[in-house]
Amino acid sequence: QLSVRLETVAGFVPENARLADIGSDHAYLPCVLAARDVISYALAGEVVKGPFESAAEQIRTSGVGDRVSARLGDGMDVIEPTDHINVVTICGMGGDLISKILEKGRVKDKLVGVERLILQPNNGEKKLREWLIGHQYKIIDETILEENGKIYEIIVAEKAETAETYSELEYSFGRFLLQTKNEVFRKKWLSEIDKCQYILDSMQKASNNLNEKEQQVINKINEIKEVLG
Ligand code: SAM
Repeated sequence: QLSVRLETVAGFVPENARLADIGSDHAYLPCVLAARDVISYALAGEVVKGPFESAAEQIRTSGVGDRVSARLGDGMDVIEPTDHINVVTICGMGGDLISKILEKGRVKDKLVGVERLILQPNNGEKKLREWLIGHQYKIIDETILEENGKIYEIIVAEKAETAETYSELEYSFGRFLLQTKNEVFRKKWLSEIDKCQYILDSMQKASNNLNEKEQQVINKINEIKEVLG
């Protein structure tokens, strides 16, 4: 049984994938996908010993040890060319950390042969989109969902022939999410306005003159209001 968040990620994993789940923690995602016979092979990568051990234990108790291996290591260092990994999932971390893991992986040629990235950043989605578009990935789908009072975005990207052109708004809000602007999207950005307003109020208490930083927060609020209509 996966959380709604990981179940949504699972829905983007193609049949017969050879998956690397980086920062896998308990390895629920690869174990469930192997038990359902969706994937043909998976690596559960972990940089911390405790989660690596719980991944190994989960693989054992799920009875999927023939198709899923736990590996201890930083980011994509755990991927070997002989694994023939073609799908990578990185979930439940900040967008900045996910971008750093991808960049290190790219430099070390770990992304060669990887056809799809399925990423679930907890924040910093803009930076992640910038990394993807800047490295010639095409964002092919995006989802926003709420579970237990938390809002998550999932970004699915594939290597493209040519670089896409993204507007500032698309980097911040997501091209696909902007097309639907569903209830969760509206909730996320309304709460972002509240956060900005709180920051602005504290800034204005401190000084009477509108400085550059305050203007930036005002611009952000206006941008979100414009998007929400
Ligand atoms: N992916 C799972 C999920 O979404 O439910 C677990 C998310 S957990 C919050 C983040 C995990 O990423 C932690 O177990 C942490 O040890 C691991 N992690 C952080 N940085 C990492 C790195 N550079 N390489 C591999 N794992 C990393």
